[in-house]
Amino acid sequence: MAIDNYRVVSEPITNDMSGMAKASMDWRRLAHNVETLASLTDVPLMAMIKADAYGHGVIPAARVSVEAGSASLGVATLREAWRLRRLPDLAEIPVMALLYTPEQPGLAETIEAGAELGVSSLTNLDAVAVAAERAGTSARVHLKGDTGISRGGVAEPEWEAFAEAAAKHQAAGAIEVVGAWSHLACADEIGHAANAAQKAAFERFLSAVAAAGLDPAVRHLANSAALIADRETHYDLVRPGIALYGYNPVPQIPVDLKPVMELRSRVATVKRLPAGTGVSYGHAHRLERDSNVALVPLGYADGVPRAASGRAEVYLAGRRRRILGRICMDQFVVDLGENTVRPGEPVILIGASDHHPDADDWAAWAGTIPNEILTGIGARVPRYWNRGTA
Ligand SMILES: *Cc1c(COP(=O)(O)O)cnc(C)c1O
Repeated sequence: MAIDNYRVVSEPITNDMSGMAKASMDWRRLAHNVETLASLTDVPLMAMIKADAYGHGVIPAARVSVEAGSASLGVATLREAWRLRRLPDLAEIPVMALLYTPEQPGLAETIEAGAELGVSSLTNLDAVAVAAERAGTSARVHLKGDTGISRGGVAEPEWEAFAEAAAKHQAAGAIEVVGAWSHLACADEIGHAANAAQKAAFERFLSAVAAAGLDPAVRHLANSAALIADRETHYDLVRPGIALYGYNPVPQIPVDLKPVMELRSRVATVKRLPAGTGVSYGHAHRLERDSNVALVPLGYADGVPRAASGRAEVYLAGRRRRILGRICMDQFVVDLGENTVRPGEPVILIGASDHHPDADDWAAWAGTIPNEILTGIGARVPRYWNRGTA
């Protein structure tokens, strides 16, 4: 496989002046996850690399996903689509942008650059047709029906009018309808009644699209959870996001996925404190015995969730150790007990081995999902893509 070309992605994405924290991405693990997910379906993958590839770095993630077999790329914003469209090596790979407003600057430029657009309302459909005219080309669009998530997409009573308007714009040459799609609300809950209801609604949406004389080449519905849990949702294309990065949203169905990101920092200072000492803001924790403590210079501004205070652990000097008291903006304190370490000792917040905490652990400690942990890692943390060993 030509993936070896992507050993060159080992450049830092942001400038690292501190040398303390870094997020390291292992491209072999991403390639492995793409191949693993592809083996679960007969249809092509659209790799969802919105939000800077869930915090991993969009351009290397795009290249590795494509080299590993993803047929297309999905992003949220026009800016992300525009950036990807300017990469000559990905010029042949479809890129779909999901979200924009009708008056948004850059719509015509994005169409002109050749990005495909999800269309989630009649207003946006008309705006895309106008922008395409300005761009002097036809816009490749994916019509979105709201089949029950009640978020983006055209509501069922409007499907007929939506499809007919799209057919009219297509006949006029302003748009080309290449896709029809929707999104599931409860795909990670196997057997949830909403899944069957949404699948039935999607069939009705496809019928409305066909009734207007449209024949979109790709029909798509599945996110990571639906890709893993329900083949009936695969249609012509699947849109995995979180699973690409190594996290399984339906853990009751085991899939061989590997975390792509490792997040590390280093110990800044070490000191000994007496029993009874209050630690960090609010003295939310008091030492039960005389203890050594380490200061780690990473905080909630870097995406270490404050809500995980009192529960979270990091891997330091051979084992997991508790974070004491509140996680602060730029730093937190770790319990070393009777052990001691030297300043500069590595601290693993998110790791790839079973001994290390991972984004699922942080999500449990903070009451959220790994998607929010990964996308929340702050701009101060430099991202590196390495050759990896997996
Ligand atoms: C983010 C997103 C996905 C991927 O979702 P995961 O749950 O991360 O797999 C798929 N489709 C759409 C429309 C999305 O917005």
